[in-house]
Amino acid sequence: MGDETMDKADIQAGRLDSEALAENFADVHQPLDQTAALVEAQRCYFCYDAPCTAACPTGIDVPGFIRAIATGNVSGAAMTILTENILGGSCARVCPTEILCQGVCVRNNVDGRGDQPVAIGMLQRHAIDHLDPAAAHPFLRASATGKSVAVVGAGPAGLACAHGLARQGHEVTLFEARTKPGGLNEFGIAAYKVPDNFAQEEVSFVTAIGGIDMRYGLALGRDIALDDLRRDFDAVFLGLGQDGVRALEVPGGDLAGVHNAVDYIAALRQADNLAALPVGAKVVVIGGGNTAIDIAVQSKRLGADDVTLVYRRGPAQMGATVHEQEFAQINGVRIKHWLRPLRLEGRGGEVRAAVFAAVRQSDDGSLLDAGTEQSLPCDMVFKAVGQAFVPPGDVGLQLAAGRIAVDQDGRTSLPDVWAGGDCVAGEDLTVQAVQDGKIAARAIDLFLRENGS
Ligand SMILES: Cc1cc2nc3c(=O)[nH]c(=O)nc-3n(C[C@H](O)[C@H](O)[C@H](O)COP(=O)(O)OP(=O)(O)OC[C@H]3O[C@@H](n4cnc5c(N)ncnc54)[C@H](O)[C@@H]3O)c2cc1C
Ligand code: SF4
Repeated sequence: MGDETMDKADIQAGRLDSEALAENFADVHQPLDQTAALVEAQRCYFCYDAPCTAACPTGIDVPGFIRAIATGNVSGAAMTILTENILGGSCARVCPTEILCQGVCVRNNVDGRGDQPVAIGMLQRHAIDHLDPAAAHPFLRASATGKSVAVVGAGPAGLACAHGLARQGHEVTLFEARTKPGGLNEFGIAAYKVPDNFAQEEVSFVTAIGGIDMRYGLALGRDIALDDLRRDFDAVFLGLGQDGVRALEVPGGDLAGVHNAVDYIAALRQADNLAALPVGAKVVVIGGGNTAIDIAVQSKRLGADDVTLVYRRGPAQMGATVHEQEFAQINGVRIKHWLRPLRLEGRGGEVRAAVFAAVRQSDDGSLLDAGTEQSLPCDMVFKAVGQAFVPPGDVGLQLAAGRIAVDQDGRTSLPDVWAGGDCVAGEDLTVQAVQDGKIAARAIDLFLRENGS
């Protein structure tokens, strides 16, 4: 008879001591000090028709705010950013700048010398962090319009929309299913990108404009009905995100030790004591997007010995950017490509191996089995194959490709209901959610004014 402990999955809390965990989950970037920010700002060419501004989903006047930093007007820089993006603080920390503003910065390739782009994200953070959190909110509300709007979902989309509407003098009631606001800024984004209590501090900043009544623990479709909101408010905005997860249809998915990555990440983000969070010695992550990268890196940083991320296609097809892939590798995560999950194998009800079929791409882009299998021993498996929108019941909203169908202003098939963020089609990024909320707020404001008293 073999050693019984050898047969048990090795899942343990406290693989690292509190000091190491605090270090591993601390801010991943050191902020720029004043001198470094000044030097970096002076690298900008202040381009006319700046490509960085065109690449920013919220259209921030990038050269404008960098020039303000370069001339010592850091508060002015912050105002320039916040005018377009009220969540400029979190976007400075979480935006994939390498594929947005910094990706198109003309300094990338000055005279073919392969220079570094201006560190726009770090400069944005420098400007926003400069604002005194104890000071009055930087924007004033317009005089009261007597109109009221229900916003559902207190993630980036809902918060941006609520702020835009409150600023125009409308009364906003923000309904949130969870007991805390912030959406994925609070429950999803990797802990080391928004450490400490950053997400909650930002919500306090956004709502400090006034006129936003926050109601928690109320879910549309469970505790509140869309018809009631449409009756009681002049307009409705839905920023519901994507609360569902795509299923990974393989045998063994119900074994102990198999988790949805987003659920584990939410638990990690809410944990008071990371040393109490159990993690496997050998971890396999299935997926190729940011969520897969984040759970892989965070497992490693919790002390897992061996973390392998497995994706069914190649590096170029991964949803995670090259920068994120490299970040995972620097953190000790092994990435394997061209492997399709076949089954999860267990012993005593616990997952102990993930088995994959090697695949190759055919001429028409579909995947063909290459005829070999690979088995990866593991104690824990994270499924990170994507999120899905779950409609809040049958509320009469038209869907497109499984999400809420909207026009370019975010208006749904119901004339007084708008939607934005991850619950509509588009880039699933914080900055895009903010832009959707901002655009919808402008459209709702126009609608309310046109529809008089
Ligand atoms: C693990 C992970 C990591 C990510 N990392 C990054 C990153 O590094 N950079 C980046 O730009 N993007 C990242 N994203 C994507 C980004 O977080 C989202 O695009 C963004 O949060 C979308 O904002 P949202 O407001 O549309 O939705 P959410 O942030 O999901 O907020 C939706 C809110 O609505 C609430 N809600 C849902 N249904 C109801 C209901 N029926 N009634 C009431 N309230 C409801 C939810 O509780 C939630 O608070 C990541 C996503 C994940 C999952
Ligand atoms: S593209 Fe680069 S150099 Fe040009 S304005 Fe933007 S940040 Fe400055």
